[in-house]
Amino acid sequence: MLIVQKYGGTSVADLERIKNVAKRIIKYREEDNYIVVVVSAMAGETDRLLNMAHSINSIPDEREIDVLISTGEQVVSALLAMTLKTMFCDAISLLGYQAKIITDSSYTNARISRIEKNHIMSELNKGKVVVVPGFQGVDEEGNITTLGRGGSDTSAVALAASLGADLCEIYTDVDGVYTADPNICDKSRRLDKISYEEMLEMASLGAKVLQIRSVEFAARYNVPILVKSSFIDGGGTLVCKEVSDMEKMEVTGVTYNKNEVKITVTGVPDKPGIAAHLFGALSDAHIVVDVIVQNVSRDNLADISFTVAKTDGRKAFKVMEDAVRALGKGSVSINEDIAKVSIVGLGMRSHFGVASKMFSVLSEEGINIMAITTSEIKISCVVEKKYGELAVRVLHSTFGLDSEAVIEEK
Ligand code: ADP
Ligand code: ASP
Ligand code: MG
Repeated sequence: MLIVQKYGGTSVADLERIKNVAKRIIKYREEDNYIVVVVSAMAGETDRLLNMAHSINSIPDEREIDVLISTGEQVVSALLAMTLKTMFCDAISLLGYQAKIITDSSYTNARISRIEKNHIMSELNKGKVVVVPGFQGVDEEGNITTLGRGGSDTSAVALAASLGADLCEIYTDVDGVYTADPNICDKSRRLDKISYEEMLEMASLGAKVLQIRSVEFAARYNVPILVKSSFIDGGGTLVCKEVSDMEKMEVTGVTYNKNEVKITVTGVPDKPGIAAHLFGALSDAHIVVDVIVQNVSRDNLADISFTVAKTDGRKAFKVMEDAVRALGKGSVSINEDIAKVSIVGLGMRSHFGVASKMFSVLSEEGINIMAITTSEIKISCVVEKKYGELAVRVLHSTFGLDSEAVIEEK
């Protein structure tokens, strides 16, 4: 079999852990598998590098950021390849430009356009384990690019798709995908299987166990992903096409995102073209808007609230101040104390009353809903941040997801 294995930051956090990773790779190698390994930077390293960049300039040059933050993965690639060799397992590290992971030029958030697999294949055919740094690629001009935070997952799945691997294993610090983040809901349960569609929603709504784009890739090229722990054996969650033996619950998972802020524009004229004016300004500034609500107008004035990623919060606020000034009416405020709580499940397609159940249980707990957004398989509510984790636990219980026994801390 050809297997792509990705090891996240906590799994390669020090030399001892890198040695454990090497032992696991050798075990698979001895079973006659071809192995491509994708590694993250040591836990905390990408943040450390970014903090240095921001201490030089609050908005550092993005091309240079990518040159800087891609080094974390490079260090681990070399250390792992060396470790494998000392354990008599032939290995070679191939950086993004050598493995020919070609991306567009959107520094810090690049998209993989293609992978020229010949180089990797020829090293595999020489019997070597190929170690590739995740998160990095190279654009058509040869500039180093990175794939957005958590991007090593995407490197792994894209490599698995391009090499036609039989399986893509993602090793992390939890032993699979849970019904809710096990770090905030101690009654969450590990799912044996989850569909690409549900995983995509969970990832976009805050379950950072897989980067969103990695799931998009997996779904498009039908790559099965197995999420496992690098610390304990067993367990695992298979992310794959919807199959008939998947659990048919109303709700599969509950997610939580505290990385958004809410911006409210108050007292703007309630007439055609206002929303286009405001959201046009945001799109011109390349700001992605998430949940939007417009309230009932009075005196021909309207209030519009929307959420954006926290990292875009201040920029969006400024853009709105300029847009409101141009209208000659209205004011802007920002609320950073919000959280978005969501329920996800293919089962929602066939169960009635899921939304009303969600809203009533939140209101019974005294949790006020500031905004709502829905799709066929998810419902999200924006609530006060201090109630976010409580909301996750309450919804988890209400939709029958609680495990019998409390899961031990990992
Ligand atoms: P890595 O460094 O290995 O890429 P991440 O920190 O990016 O690991 O992702 C693993 C983390 O994802 C877990 O520690 C867990 O807190 C979080 N997480 C959030 N939601 C879920 C979920 N539904 N199931 C499992 N883990 C989740
Ligand atoms: N090191 C990068 C990050 O911390 C990429 C990754 O770990 O997936 O975001
Ligand atoms: Mg990750």
